Amino acid sequence: MATVTQTIDYETAALAADHFNVEAVSEEASLEAGAQRHPLLDLSKEDPASLVPRPPVVVVMGHVDHGKTSLLDAIRATKVADSEAGGITQRIGAYQVEKNHRLITFIDTPGHEAFTAMRARGAVVTDVAVLVVAADDGVMPQTEEAIQHARSAGVPILVAINKIDKPGANVDKVLAQLAEYELLSDQYGGNTTMVRTSAKSGEGIAELLEMILLVSDIQEPRANPNRLAVGTVIDSHLERGRGPIATLLVQNGTLHVGDNIVVGGTFGKVRALIDDMGKKVKEAVPSMPVVVTGLSDVVEAGALAQVVATEREARSIAELFSRQKAERLSYPSRRLTLEELAARAKEGEPKSFTLILKADAQGTIEAVKGQIQKLQNDEVNIKFVAEGVGAITESDVNLAAASQAIIIGFNVRYDDRVKQLADEEGVDVRLYDVVYRVTEDLEKAIKGLREPVFHDVEIGRAEVRKIYVFDGKNSIAGANVQDGKITRQSTIVVLRKEQEIARSGIKQLKRFKDDVREVAKGYDCGVSLDAFDQFEEGDVLVAYIREQEE
Ligand code: GDP
Repeated sequence: MATVTQTIDYETAALAADHFNVEAVSEEASLEAGAQRHPLLDLSKEDPASLVPRPPVVVVMGHVDHGKTSLLDAIRATKVADSEAGGITQRIGAYQVEKNHRLITFIDTPGHEAFTAMRARGAVVTDVAVLVVAADDGVMPQTEEAIQHARSAGVPILVAINKIDKPGANVDKVLAQLAEYELLSDQYGGNTTMVRTSAKSGEGIAELLEMILLVSDIQEPRANPNRLAVGTVIDSHLERGRGPIATLLVQNGTLHVGDNIVVGGTFGKVRALIDDMGKKVKEAVPSMPVVVTGLSDVVEAGALAQVVATEREARSIAELFSRQKAERLSYPSRRLTLEELAARAKEGEPKSFTLILKADAQGTIEAVKGQIQKLQNDEVNIKFVAEGVGAITESDVNLAAASQAIIIGFNVRYDDRVKQLADEEGVDVRLYDVVYRVTEDLEKAIKGLREPVFHDVEIGRAEVRKIYVFDGKNSIAGANVQDGKITRQSTIVVLRKEQEIARSGIKQLKRFKDDVREVAKGYDCGVSLDAFDQFEEGDVLVAYIREQEE
């Protein structure tokens, strides 16, 4: 006997399902079968008569600096030029443009890494991949990667040979290089559509859009708009005044204001829907990206979003999800540091890392995680017990302590209280702001090497001249930089009569009303700190940065 909430193995589940005449397909099997679609997105279960064409969804990939962002911007600009109202496009993670009275959806995060991170979750949102190759640079390592990623996802590739306006452009050379990857231009008897573009002059953009429609017509993307919506989270973050918001790409069905929606362990009622022009809309049809408010929490990019009939159903699905996730975590008791892992690795013990990842934005999480996961192989197993947007909290430290995890903080800080708890619990917390440092440290630990040593280097000093009081606290120091500079990333030591009275990260660094990255010698600035606000006139702020010893 098993209880209702107990997890059972697949074989048992399949036998039980068979008994009830229900077909069970294991997650691995369904992925391997190339179905790659979540069961909720499997259109073969839909009545063919209910399916109507939907706009193709396009992702732009290619080597760094080959013009992915510029192309996305140039395409977006055609929309603004076309729209009579002259509205302003919003950066919500995806947008739609019209060509020949048909819509095309573009995912606004270029690159195959984000694409593959989403795919790794089972999310397949794209119908066409535009591979951007700069005509003056040719096929480069990430071009090759992009080709592999698109191919492994079974997404057709359309090539944009970009920067044709440049004097160094050599289209023939690019064509020859692409031929080595079996991408042969249809103009030369191959079957890959290639368009010459200039994101700078706009040449070829209209043709690119036309070709996207042609390529996608072969696949005939379809959906059933008359059912409860299913979609994928493209982006999600907290927004002041609006709470958690998520950009969803609706993939099947139609999403309405008032719908009961579940994403992982989070659910809510759709309060408002906002399109890529910042306009409130009542519903979102297939292939339409839309910002959703009303979810109770920030959700994961790449997660599946699902509308259900009742709030009760939404709650129970969300609870089941959370419970299953909790069950998957195991909580051995001893603490671990990267150094210990390195020592174990040296002794030839199996290398297994458990990590908690906190970062400043969902996109950063995907990027950092993707890089870390690249370190995995037969001998090294890397597991993430938690990940999230925002500062490192006490609950992160507790989870790390409970699950023998190391906390990786990327572009985030943690306050003194949390630091103290981490020290007490012996939890290893590592802060980074450059991706390769994270992977470098982990790699060293994997190889059993010594840890890098960091030390603080003073970069500047400022004197507090004026105090601005907010909510009864001396929260902002008006200071003048007298030596070197103060940067947003630095740690500030507050000196009063030459005694250190506080040490903290910077919460805000401002010149007049603007947030700035750094303030140089001779300038005034406003400084507020994460963990200190009792400034007095005459206090000296010393800025430090951490540097790695060679
Ligand atoms: P990404 O890294 O692939 O997103 O590349 P970007 O869009 O950031 O472009 C990299 C650089 O190339 C920028 O300085 C762009 O202004 C420039 N660039 C992009 N497309 C073109 C183009 O078609 N012609 C020229 N001359 N420059 C371009």
